Amino acid sequence: ASKAAGRGRVTLYDADLERQMDERRTLLEDLPKALENDELEVFLQPKVLIGTGEVIGFEALVRWWRNGVLFNPAQFISVAEDSNRICEIDAFVLDRAVGIMADWNRRHRTSFGVSVNLSGSHFVSRDGLPFVSDALQRHGFEPEFLTLEITETVQLSRWDIAQEIVTGLKALGCKISIDDFGTGYSSLIYLKTISADELKIDKSLIDEIEGSEEARFILDAVLDLADSLRLEVVVEGIEREEQRSFLHRLGCKVGQGYLFGKPIAAAEALADATYSLPTLDDLPPANKARV
Ligand code: C2E
Ligand code: MG
Ligand code: MG
Ligand code: MG
Repeated sequence: ASKAAGRGRVTLYDADLERQMDERRTLLEDLPKALENDELEVFLQPKVLIGTGEVIGFEALVRWWRNGVLFNPAQFISVAEDSNRICEIDAFVLDRAVGIMADWNRRHRTSFGVSVNLSGSHFVSRDGLPFVSDALQRHGFEPEFLTLEITETVQLSRWDIAQEIVTGLKALGCKISIDDFGTGYSSLIYLKTISADELKIDKSLIDEIEGSEEARFILDAVLDLADSLRLEVVVEGIEREEQRSFLHRLGCKVGQGYLFGKPIAAAEALADATYSLPTLDDLPPANKARV
């Protein structure tokens, strides 16, 4: 390549990289404000029975109203992880999610569960996760209705610590879910190390099930494995009826996906899932005292 062309390309690359680094730097600077100014919001996505569409719970997914613009986790979680702000964010999301659900279940006599994502960053020291029991106590929420989702970002060298912390969380009575199952090279070792209650099968596998026989074989094998290990299965990323009926025929019971509902503001998501139930607030005062 000529010197000029080479130099041109390098300049272009540098400018791009510089812009990305600038963006990360300003995100990093703004993150403390996100927490201080209450700019984070918990969205909820329904977790449903695939056969009937009945909502049985929700996954809490964080959003950031940064200068009035809605930011998705893909845009800031990795920056938050590099700077360790992620632990504060997760603690905030967990407290908010548990608070919202405890309040809703009490007022509407529902028994929705809630799932919260935990970054691998929590599993590097033996300090445990005191904010989990704090939130449960503060909001009077039954631990068995809280599921903690862990992805495969935990470092291999820290698995002894991860195991200890998970044991502590399970002792509280919470459920443990392995998120994005089927995407990481470490999936099987993960299963052996962490005594989970639930496997969430990643969307990437579901995207393939109709077009690829291999994907169907893998899904079959994963379902058998989950069965043998007595793990509940949740299927992520169901977008179309064909996928739904296919999964239903395979015996998958619980799923999430745009077909059933996108993540939306908590109040809306809960109202959508409960619209047919009378609210205690709607009852006249005399009845209210009795219920
Ligand atoms: P995840 O935990 O695997 O969550 C599922 C993601 O897939 C969500 O993206 C959800 O909006 C999206 N999704 C669900 N159903 C469908 C579907 O049918 N089609 C498509 N195309 N997408 C679907 P979201 O909310 O952008 O979150 C992305 C990831 O960010 C999450 O993946 C999770 O790993 C992470 N995350 C979200 N909230 C938190 C949090 O509070 N703490 C931590 N540590 N991570 C979080
Ligand atoms: Mg998740
Ligand atoms: Mg997932
Ligand atoms: Mg994911």
